[in-house]
Amino acid sequence: MNLDTLNVELEARSARERLAWAVETYGDRLLFTSSFGPGSGVLLHLWSEVAGELPVHFIDTGFLFDQTIAYRDELVKKLELKLQVLKPALEQGRFLEKYGLTVYRDDPDRCCAINKVEPLQAALPGKDAWVSGLRRDQSKARGETPILLGTDGPVKVHPLADWNARDVYQYLKLHHVPEHPLFEQGYVSVGCAPCTRPVLPGEDERAGRWSGTAKTECGLHTFLKKAE
Ligand code: SF4
Repeated sequence: MNLDTLNVELEARSARERLAWAVETYGDRLLFTSSFGPGSGVLLHLWSEVAGELPVHFIDTGFLFDQTIAYRDELVKKLELKLQVLKPALEQGRFLEKYGLTVYRDDPDRCCAINKVEPLQAALPGKDAWVSGLRRDQSKARGETPILLGTDGPVKVHPLADWNARDVYQYLKLHHVPEHPLFEQGYVSVGCAPCTRPVLPGEDERAGRWSGTAKTECGLHTFLKKAE
């Protein structure tokens, strides 16, 4: 499979066609993860239409906003999604006991590695591709996101890579998909509660994540090495 050639072809197609291509190509060897954050409704809606009975995987770190869990449950019901929850090996109380009550502030890379990356890694065996909702306009770090990215693990598939925030807004309105309840309070990107603040006018969509630190990614989208 020549990903460069496929990327040229897929750039000219719609997000729905890109997702349908991935479902047809990989079948149940395709993993789909969603954070059920602002904007997630687009890919979840498309998934409900093209992926049949394939599940949506959701990583519950134990540090999420109650509003995210409520939004997840609302969309699962509305879109009739098959949900699979991925959890860390250590439940939150034991994790904090072992690593410290403020580990998310003192050592956020370790916190993300244990509570986000490890649960995802446990779901990867048997998967040849992984779909997620990364977009180029979300941050500088994501500015070069391709539709398909070859890695030392599964091929990463980004059907919304060339969408912008307005595209997302319009799609959700058109298809009557509700938005995350915190979106209207300025949370345009939502992760764990201790590590997320609303963004200010003019900031990147992800500026409210780990604000005040150099950290910009949890590690989910950086632990796989790009294929040579
Ligand atoms: S986003 Fe924050 S609370 Fe969540 S896993 Fe990472 S460091 Fe821990």
